[in-house]
Amino acid sequence: MAIVTPLEPDSSGHRRLALASPATLEPLGEIEVHDEADARAAVERARKAQSEWAELPVSERARYLVSTLEILLERQEDVISTVIGETGKPRTEAIQMEVFAVGDALNYYAKNAEAILKTEKRKLHGLTQWMKRLRIVYRPLGVVGVISPWNGPFVLAMNPTIQALVAGNAVILKPSEVTPFSGLLAAELFEAAGLPEGLFQVLTGDGETGAALCRAGLDKVSFTGSVATGRKVAVSCAEQLIPCTLELGGKDAMIVCEDVNLDYAAGGAVAGAFMNTGQYCCGTERVYVVDSVADAFTQKVVERVAELRQGVEGEFDVGAIFWPQQLDVIEEHMADARARGATVLTGGRRNPDLEGLFYEPTVLADVDHSMQIMQQETFGPILPIMRVAGEAEAIELANDSEYGLGGNVWTRDSAKGIRIAEQIESGSVCVNDMTMTYGVQEAPFGGRKQSGIGQVNGATGLRGYCHAEPIIVDRRGGKMADSRYPYRAKSDAGLQKFIRLLWGTSLGRWLS
Ligand code: NAD
Repeated sequence: MAIVTPLEPDSSGHRRLALASPATLEPLGEIEVHDEADARAAVERARKAQSEWAELPVSERARYLVSTLEILLERQEDVISTVIGETGKPRTEAIQMEVFAVGDALNYYAKNAEAILKTEKRKLHGLTQWMKRLRIVYRPLGVVGVISPWNGPFVLAMNPTIQALVAGNAVILKPSEVTPFSGLLAAELFEAAGLPEGLFQVLTGDGETGAALCRAGLDKVSFTGSVATGRKVAVSCAEQLIPCTLELGGKDAMIVCEDVNLDYAAGGAVAGAFMNTGQYCCGTERVYVVDSVADAFTQKVVERVAELRQGVEGEFDVGAIFWPQQLDVIEEHMADARARGATVLTGGRRNPDLEGLFYEPTVLADVDHSMQIMQQETFGPILPIMRVAGEAEAIELANDSEYGLGGNVWTRDSAKGIRIAEQIESGSVCVNDMTMTYGVQEAPFGGRKQSGIGQVNGATGLRGYCHAEPIIVDRRGGKMADSRYPYRAKSDAGLQKFIRLLWGTSLGRWLS
């Protein structure tokens, strides 16, 4: 995180927050908490800018994405250092998760948005096709609010923004108060790319600012964050009858089958659980391993975890916990697991050698579903491994969760992996891979159960920033309207006869 400390309000009456690095504890700067008046003014500015932007062809808007990509390449180091400053994540993760993922999104939507948003001529069914023509026009919604969390401060601000912008909307971003500087940097990149003024704005602040933005007259909210806040955003949007997508928390399960390549699975478990210090919505938070391979798998995992290097500078593998509240959750879950009989195989404490917010990469055995660590989102570098009799039990336990965001299955038989994936109640599942779905642009991404509502990314996500407007054109220039009235019993009888002919015979059903 940053570590966030409230300060005295400034002369304009705005609250202020001071931020410090979670890794070095050094001060990072201060932000203003924008209020309701700021949010309304931002929406007004955005609406003015959006009307001209919406008139541009998608190909023109896409050109701005290419310019932003060029600026991103030039300013990679700024992104990396800003993200590392706010989060304490390893440099490799800042490059892969933030720079690479955003570059890929900019390039993908610049290349594909025009085709995805092209007006569609849809063929109609049966006799209707001789009477009507149908076009679907993808029209921008207007002003979209993007509210983002702290765990992927640059990518989770940029990715929805890129999609909303290229679809013809203006965007107001409210980045997490824990990582505001990555959001502010996004604004600098878009400005340097020449994006028209007012089209992308950033409101800094905390929950007060997010709530004010939701009520400021938006046309859609794209929210990424916790279940508790997502529910508040959903209520606010419901009150105003505006759409929202809610990308929320998860408790992703990993299933390790008997026929697995143990080295690959152990590598997948460690990457899935410890990437981003476990603070990843699609991170692996629980493992179910089939009894016959459980000992060998667990041993390989523990060996790999023992080699992970935790640190602040230079080369290391696991970074800081991004803010103190998350450390409290991790310690609470660990205390509960210990009290209920879990065994700590490695880790299990704050790192005594580092001053900042560091928790050692931890592997647990002897866990069960009475424990918080198997039920609630921990969002930390903890990997609980549970032994199961077989794959059926693993599927049942994977589904015993109020969350349903991602998940992964490991087997040498990918057809079997797909069959298991189809039985997991989750937004997405990987076979012999992990944490990938958000990074595959074509894959619609979104959670089931408490993990969210709606989907982002790819064609589904991009069209979600539009209203799909059907335009129906009569093939005979409206001639039928001329003879619609008066209603007559004779024509009613004729219509009923026609209905029987249409759907009362197999030939009629085939034709209609
Ligand atoms: P959070 O819910 O605390 O905050 C998210 C954002 O909402 C922040 O910008 C915050 O200031 C804002 N906010 C707070 N109160 C608000 C209100 N009343 N109205 C509007 N906005 C408000 O979440 P977090 O702690 O920043 O992020 C971690 C959570 O995000 C985890 O649960 C994680 O799983 C989830 N997450 C989900 C995805 C996904 O794509 N599904 C991706 C990343 C993170």
